[in-house]
Amino acid sequence: MGLSKLNQLYRAVILDAAAHPHHKGSIQSPTNEMTLHNPTCGDTVNLQVKVENGKISDIGFTGDGCTISQASASMMTDAVNGKTKAEALKMAKIFSDEAIGKKHDQDDLKLLGDAQVLTNIMQFPARIKCATLSWWALSRALEKDQSAGGVNDD
Ligand code: ZN
Repeated sequence: MGLSKLNQLYRAVILDAAAHPHHKGSIQSPTNEMTLHNPTCGDTVNLQVKVENGKISDIGFTGDGCTISQASASMMTDAVNGKTKAEALKMAKIFSDEAIGKKHDQDDLKLLGDAQVLTNIMQFPARIKCATLSWWALSRALEKDQSAGGVNDD
């Protein structure tokens, strides 16, 4: 899978997150949901978010996928839990930009917490979608006005 080329530290952090993912499982009464697939690798992320008073008060994911996608979903949910919707969307934008080689400054990267180690995945073009899948699910879940019920994704 090419992971052996990753820096040892990144590798350990990623393998640990995938082995013991945080926020894995469904949550009670989510307000926003999004399921995304990465057909090139076979990853699925079904993300559930509960937004209360503009803040993410609970978040969880289900679905199966490779080590990178599971680790990324775990790190993403850790990073955005408790953040405002605007902060979470900003973080998703930073992550997506970094993954395609658009650089942000250190302060922006710090916002991502552990998830910033996964921005190094851009060295492995085949795995970029695995890392960005859960962040895209987050943006789409938050941007979609789910109360309107008229938005048709996919
Ligand atoms: Zn994958």
